[in-house]
Amino acid sequence: MTLTRSLFSGLLLLSGSLFSLAQANSDSPSLTMMGTTPSVPKNIVIMIGDGMGPAYTSAYRYYKNNPDTEEVEQTVFDRLLVGSASTYPAKISGYVTDSAAAATALATGVKSYNGAVSVDTQKQPLTTIMEKAKQLGLATGVAVTSQINHATPAAFLTHNESRRNYDEIANSFLNTDTDVMLGGGQRYFPPKLLKKFEAKGYQHISDFAQLDTVTEPKVIGLFADIQLPWAINDKDAHKLSKMTSKALELLSQNQDGFVLLVEGSLIDWAGHNNDIVTAMAEMDEFANAIEVVEQYVRQHKDTLMVVTADHNTGGLSIGANGEYIWKTDIINGVSNSPDAIASLALADGDWQSQVNAKLGFELSPEEAIQLSLARMQGVEVMTTAIKKIIDLRSYTGWTTGGHTGVDVQVFTSGPASTLFNGYQDNTDIANKLMSLLPKKPKVASKPKAIAPATSKSAATKPAAAPSLEAQPLQIKPVVIKSEKSKSMATKAIATPELKEPSSDTVTLGKPI
Ligand SMILES: [Zn+2]
Repeated sequence: MTLTRSLFSGLLLLSGSLFSLAQANSDSPSLTMMGTTPSVPKNIVIMIGDGMGPAYTSAYRYYKNNPDTEEVEQTVFDRLLVGSASTYPAKISGYVTDSAAAATALATGVKSYNGAVSVDTQKQPLTTIMEKAKQLGLATGVAVTSQINHATPAAFLTHNESRRNYDEIANSFLNTDTDVMLGGGQRYFPPKLLKKFEAKGYQHISDFAQLDTVTEPKVIGLFADIQLPWAINDKDAHKLSKMTSKALELLSQNQDGFVLLVEGSLIDWAGHNNDIVTAMAEMDEFANAIEVVEQYVRQHKDTLMVVTADHNTGGLSIGANGEYIWKTDIINGVSNSPDAIASLALADGDWQSQVNAKLGFELSPEEAIQLSLARMQGVEVMTTAIKKIIDLRSYTGWTTGGHTGVDVQVFTSGPASTLFNGYQDNTDIANKLMSLLPKKPKVASKPKAIAPATSKSAATKPAAAPSLEAQPLQIKPVVIKSEKSKSMATKAIATPELKEPSSDTVTLGKPI
């Protein structure tokens, strides 16, 4: 097995260098390998459904299925599926990863401990694909539904010994030269810090409607205090797909290419909450974002998209309690998140009819009694009681409030997408992606600006180029080792308003 694996790695390295050679030697690179004709991408879009284990994509298929037709319609996930990936972290953390270790693996190709933000088990910085891309003159960006300094985007952009050091991570973004940062997290970017971003040429926006008016990088868009609103409560907003679309538009102005990370961050948060209706709505918006990228890949044949999950969350099961049933009509009928319905029920006198309307079904007398008892104990107990009713009626099961160690799926489209076929480890995904980056930065910026001078993107190029090419070629990852990190971690545990998955907090609060 070890031999097979090292042989595979060798082949991978070889194919990586072949691809890069091809790219270095040709303007429209392609080569024949094992009977196929993969070509090297100029642009890479990495999309992560946080917590999106295989049960989520199956559940999403049935959730979206048209009940009036005989067949079960395919989803974008079914269309793009090519392989699977294991997710286990470094040995010290066992078999079940957290988002930080998984994102470290996906961003650097190296496994680390749970909680690590692109540092190794010795807390030394690991070079990320975004840093490599920057050194090569590519543009980089992130578009996520959590705060932009949350574990996954953080591991692509920076280094820290703990994902809980939110302020340090936010500060360190200043030195990453990232071209587009879109998501939540206003509380971690106080005016003083935003001024520094502006001094570096960033446009800062906080109103989602302003996103339309942005025409060029650099931009830092923070649209919520922490995470963006649940998609189910913000139905027409389509925030992740709009941020994805804008990020593609802005990053594609760099003629040397780009690497973009898109994360459906809140699938995981809903999974931690064991909240099926919220999870499915988050899946739906992530699927919308994937379709935006799929469309872009169709129109830009030089763009590779790789979609995966960092791990599975909640141990979701389609069918529960010994019954061979999963009732999507129940899930589809709920029009708000259970926490929003609970808040509504607490505020309003005629709570029962409000709850019925939001759930899309009439509470049975027993359910009504359960909810009236829960209602007296506050919003959290009420939320849990509502979720329990939805789970029982829809036959949805959960095994944990945390993560599980099952493999995740890999979905691709675009040049070299067959590289990801079959089983791989999450670190292989990163190594394959990094092997597809050009080996050397493109040197001359002047001839490029002259070449297709008529196009719109060429016109904007001169403005964008100097800042990218002024970057030093040497890797200088910055690790901030905080003496306060222990106390900060403790503080994070004691801060319930972060609304983050509690089991993540518990796991990460343990000494690593
Ligand atoms: Zn999680």
